[in-house]
Amino acid sequence: MKIVIYPHPSLRHPAKPLAAIDKQVHLDAGRMFELMYEHKGLGLAANQVFLPYRIVVLNPSGDPQQRDKEEVLLNPVILERKGTIEGEEGCLSFPGLFQKIRRAKTVRVQAYNLHGELIEKSLSDLEARLWQHEVDHLDGILFIDKMGTIARLASRNALKEFEQDFQRAQEKGEIPATAELERILKERSMALEQNGSPPSTIPPI
Ligand SMILES: [Zn+2]
Repeated sequence: MKIVIYPHPSLRHPAKPLAAIDKQVHLDAGRMFELMYEHKGLGLAANQVFLPYRIVVLNPSGDPQQRDKEEVLLNPVILERKGTIEGEEGCLSFPGLFQKIRRAKTVRVQAYNLHGELIEKSLSDLEARLWQHEVDHLDGILFIDKMGTIARLASRNALKEFEQDFQRAQEKGEIPATAELERILKERSMALEQNGSPPSTIPPI
């Protein structure tokens, strides 16, 4: 498992609801936390590690010592959004790119945890921003889609560079061709649908 960089097609692929929490889900979550800390992130979504199902790991403190702040979100949803606030955002799939993004200030959210318990709560500021950023990922939406005109203009060169780097890596054979990546994505989604169906401990949201 590793973090994919824009414009990897996995980032635009909506993740499927998870229907059962098995050992593999626990293993995936553990590895995602490792990668997230290694890259100094606060959150990481399935699409960023080429997984086809709706899982997010996050730790608003970003501190691996603060294990009590860790959260695994399965099938997370945002039930309600209130107010707007602008704040600086980055993304592990866009290393080094930071821009001001407008998001809801407070959100009411719901997700299953690794024990299959449904958690519902209200969040504000950084935590609210994190949830919105990560749930967007699961829908194939990226923070560059949420940028205002100025942020978009300021990011243009950086995005072009990411695109050129990705293409070069594909030409060198370090990353499979886009058609091949699409094929793997489809295959993984189909395998999930076949194996991830009932008996389920959690209903898909
Ligand atoms: Zn991100």
